[in-house]
Amino acid sequence: MFDYLVVGAGFAGATIAERLAGHGDKRVLICDKRPHIGGNAFDYYNEHGILIHKYGPHIFHTNSVEVFKYLSRFTEWRPYEHRVRASVDGQMVPIPINLDTINQLYGCHFSSQELEAFFASVAEPRKLLKTSEDVIVNRVGRELYEKFFRNYTRKQWGLDPSELDASVTARVPVRTNRDDRYFTDTYQSMPLHGYTRMFERMLSHPNIHILLNSDYRDIRQLVPHKHLVYTGPVDEYFDYCFGKLPYRSLRFHWQTLDVEQAQAAPVINYPNDHLYTRVTEFKYLSGQRHSKTTLVYEFPTAEGDPYYPIPTSANAAQYAQYQALADATPTVHFLGRLGTYKYYNMDQVVAQALAAYARLAGVTRREIAA
Ligand SMILES: Cc1cc2nc3c(=O)[nH]c(=O)nc-3n(C[C@H](O)[C@H](O)[C@H](O)COP(=O)(O)OP(=O)(O)OC[C@H]3O[C@@H](n4cnc5c(N)ncnc54)[C@H](O)[C@@H]3O)c2cc1C
Repeated sequence: MFDYLVVGAGFAGATIAERLAGHGDKRVLICDKRPHIGGNAFDYYNEHGILIHKYGPHIFHTNSVEVFKYLSRFTEWRPYEHRVRASVDGQMVPIPINLDTINQLYGCHFSSQELEAFFASVAEPRKLLKTSEDVIVNRVGRELYEKFFRNYTRKQWGLDPSELDASVTARVPVRTNRDDRYFTDTYQSMPLHGYTRMFERMLSHPNIHILLNSDYRDIRQLVPHKHLVYTGPVDEYFDYCFGKLPYRSLRFHWQTLDVEQAQAAPVINYPNDHLYTRVTEFKYLSGQRHSKTTLVYEFPTAEGDPYYPIPTSANAAQYAQYQALADATPTVHFLGRLGTYKYYNMDQVVAQALAAYARLAGVTRREIAA
């Protein structure tokens, strides 16, 4: 008899399984329907020997000392500050928009103060920032919105920014200085030997048993367990009784070239051209040295693995029905991006799982870090 069955071996499942076993001395079975651990952060060496992220580029960044310290037990880190360029009007300019982006794009020489004044002159002030369009147009006006955000968002989400919650583009800063880092978090680094190695160490506790290629729906009757932690899709758990929650997915196109480096930046965004949104060159992320290089092109799709919960008010209302059902099912603990239908980054999922464990174990967050 297992104390806990944990469904899903991504960040949410692996973190809570590790704490249950490592701190709580519980016997845990963690299952995943995929043939590997790591969830969407799974990485591996491809046939050319290059470390790639199977489900698209995953950049680790956090402001949480708790999360960073916790994960540091299972990996060393390689300092890495992510940088992205956008292909706009035939130029490769830094994104998020900063001073250099505008000066390069318009061939001008604004200072930071002048750029602030420029934004103020082109902005279309909106009283209520309800949609993604409101957020951007209110800050940088219509022209920059059209050049950088509108078509990218339409490709990425299959929706116009005017149909998406403000939260989507609120994540993207606009800067008046020359900081061209994609993130500004306190901790920015990649697991030195990759995510999968880190997950292997998280799940190496003798009280944790791993069952791969196993869908929860097929094994639930076969595995005796006292409690359940579920990090799969919440709508699937409840047999889609309120309908299928909408997700955006991706199709990946992989390319390996016989050159050491192919791009001028780790990621190039293509807001206006092509059907793909962005191209990532993995060696920038890993720091790997190799005579070849691997790129991935991301084509957003409506069908496929559930990757991105689509943040609209209608979807939030649909999820609220599932959440009420989940709250009324106290024997099951729903966690993670899919279990709580939230657009979480990796560090947020780890924080959520640590908090959930603290509640389950009846201890404080500080105690569980011990
Ligand atoms: C393309 C892409 C890029 C991203 N980039 C970043 C980034 O740069 N930085 C960042 O911080 N975050 C990024 N994220 C987000 C990150 O992937 C998530 O925060 C994280 O993976 C969530 O972990 P999780 O455990 O909740 O879910 P997942 O990693 O999705 O793990 C859930 C697991 O549950 C399994 N499962 C589902 N249903 C069942 C079932 N019925 N039975 C058994 N197993 C089941 C799945 O197979 C999966 O392995 C990105 C996401 C995507 C899609």
